[in-house]
Amino acid sequence: MDDRSADRPVNLYDLTYPQMEALLAQWGFSAFHTDRLWAYLYRQQVESLVEMTDLRADLREHLAAHTTLDNLPTQAATASSDGFTRKFLLALPDSETIETVLMKFKGRATACVSTQVGCAMGCVFCATGQMGFTRHLSPGEIVSQVLYIDRILRQQGEQLRNIVLMGMGEPLHNYEATMAAVEIITDHKGMSLAPKHITLSTVGIVPGIRRLADEERPIHLAVSLHAATDAERQALVPAARRWPLNELIDACRYYIEKRKRRIFFEWTLIEGKNDTPEQAHAVGQLLLGLDAHVNLIPLNPTVGYQALPTQADAVKAFQAILAQYNLPSTVRQRRGIDIAAGCGQLRAMSDPS
Ligand code: SAH
Ligand code: SF4
Repeated sequence: MDDRSADRPVNLYDLTYPQMEALLAQWGFSAFHTDRLWAYLYRQQVESLVEMTDLRADLREHLAAHTTLDNLPTQAATASSDGFTRKFLLALPDSETIETVLMKFKGRATACVSTQVGCAMGCVFCATGQMGFTRHLSPGEIVSQVLYIDRILRQQGEQLRNIVLMGMGEPLHNYEATMAAVEIITDHKGMSLAPKHITLSTVGIVPGIRRLADEERPIHLAVSLHAATDAERQALVPAARRWPLNELIDACRYYIEKRKRRIFFEWTLIEGKNDTPEQAHAVGQLLLGLDAHVNLIPLNPTVGYQALPTQADAVKAFQAILAQYNLPSTVRQRRGIDIAAGCGQLRAMSDPS
């Protein structure tokens, strides 16, 4: 009888510290050994068991028999001409691929990581949305992207400090795995990344926003708004049909009050679609009284959506209207447009289909 599924090896990167401690305890090893193993994985960041020379031989044997260390091989890589952005297409054990981006801006390194293969939310302007949904990532597949970027930086004598969960996929549609990954990378015994340097971006999954607030997750939240009236928003973001704006804004207000934190609202500016003075006034009204900051991102064109980014003058005019409502905003250029740094675009280009 084939009983391999019952004893399928565990990817060590999938485990939070308490889970790893429980696994080792099951084999009769004390917490002291968990500390050591954890340090190898997340402080030294070694990539194989043989490098864990200080680990007891019988523990290494158990690990070799029952676990794997699924690091993600590079399938493709590109760098922007300004040198600030490097984008990697990484292969998963089942040969699916995901994108991870390293951005450097004013000496600050940020990793943009994916949470799913594809995305089920279907935003019309997004290359990942145009692909559809394939599967969720496991916690380890999210953690490995962070390690991948940190290893590159360490080779240059630097260290990773900032993470944005803004790659392929919708993190609140893969809530458990995303939060497990956040727990692993922020664990003080390991990478110890500061939660205040982690930003999760969501299309606006209302129950997920409320859950983040209730669980008092200490990370920052960005909500992709893109339009301030239901009809306009639903045309760009099909998922918005499920959670109309009044429900979304209620959840945002709840989050801001509960967490005493500002929310960043993202707005992809698309010429003639959501960059009109009417929309600017509507968003000013919609966010009135909320501790909010708007990030305006001129559209990064994709093959599946025929539209143009808003021109600089119109961006300024849009911002000026937001200012009338005391709504702060920043224009964010998607860096490295020449390397297809928009979400999902490298994979879209590499797909044989
Ligand atoms: N699913 C999450 C996080 C990933 S997308 C979300 O939607 O928030 C990260 C951000 O990139 C979102 O604000 C999204 O709207 C934006 N984005 C996606 N495709 C884009 C494009 N072609 N041009 C500009 N911004 C884009
Ligand atoms: Fe998914 Fe975000 Fe792309 Fe929308 S913008 S399809 S939610 S990844």
